[in-house]
Amino acid sequence: MKESIGFIGLGIMGGGMAANLLKAGYDVTVWNRTPGRITPLAQAGAAVADNAAAVAASATIIIICVSDTPDVEEVILGPQGVIERIRAGSLVIDCSTISPTSTRAIADRLRAAGAHMLDAPVSGGSEGAAKGTLSIMIGGDKAQVARAMPILRAMGQTITHVGSHGAGQMAKLVNQILVVVTMQGVGEALLLAQAGGLDLEQTLAAVGGGAAGSWMLNNRAPQVIRRDWRPGFTVDLQQKDLRLVLETADQLGIPLPSTALVFQYYRALQQQGLGGEGNHALVKALERLAGMEIALNGASTAT
Ligand code: NAP
Repeated sequence: MKESIGFIGLGIMGGGMAANLLKAGYDVTVWNRTPGRITPLAQAGAAVADNAAAVAASATIIIICVSDTPDVEEVILGPQGVIERIRAGSLVIDCSTISPTSTRAIADRLRAAGAHMLDAPVSGGSEGAAKGTLSIMIGGDKAQVARAMPILRAMGQTITHVGSHGAGQMAKLVNQILVVVTMQGVGEALLLAQAGGLDLEQTLAAVGGGAAGSWMLNNRAPQVIRRDWRPGFTVDLQQKDLRLVLETADQLGIPLPSTALVFQYYRALQQQGLGGEGNHALVKALERLAGMEIALNGASTAT
């Protein structure tokens, strides 16, 4: 069966992912709450629907990439939502990062409507979305994963079926612990390098290829030393992910002290009006503790 694709949520991630599906030759119908974000996709050949329900009526596979749990509930279960017009046998693939528990409840509602669901949250940043190199973590039935695989391959490189409904979201929460605790380490390392009088670019070149190398170090530390806070992933969304991590850890009785600390740093940045900056702005919270700023070729600047 030739699948027709619907795509809901054309933000930093969804815009790049939908563009890659068009490049791969799929018929794609898109909808975004704010119409301005639709234009580049329409120019690249996407059909445009009036709402999420109309996307569902036009497609056999509906991909969703919106912000948070209530947003996914709204576009699937709310007024003019996917469930109103979904066809029997259609598949919803949710690429947003949301609660594993709510994911299971949404999958049950779709099943009752005769449709399928996979949770398929992604990692790899705006760069991965644009280049089609995302890591995708999937929860759901094996047969639906096999059905989705060619489409997922147009958007991602490392595609792993980790379990039943909600397991993809659980793996993504694990991913986020690794991302933020690494970023905290990157910030502390750069502060010491700056205070110790090292050339920051040389330092990154020295350590980036060794045991300390990581995606966050190699992609975000160069942005930090240029003081470029443009978001691939915002502080607000990272705060949302850490809330999901800590809620889930609380339900399971697992202590996560480092994640809890970073959650508080992000909260401080939000209170300072920095929620729209990239999540590597975590460094700014550490700079304020140290009373100095990290800057390329600069002696440390007192804050
Ligand atoms: P974004 O640029 O802020 O885009 C969010 C998208 O969700 C926009 O299209 C927005 O529509 C839509 N949306 C939000 N609430 C909605 C609602 N109630 N009804 C309809 N549409 C709604 O965010 P993003 O960075 O693309 O992130 C999207 C998801 O991917 C999030 O769950 C995030 O955690 C996850 N993610 C992001 C990254 C990253 O590096 N950016 C990496 C991995 C995973 P409007 O245009 O109308 O606001």
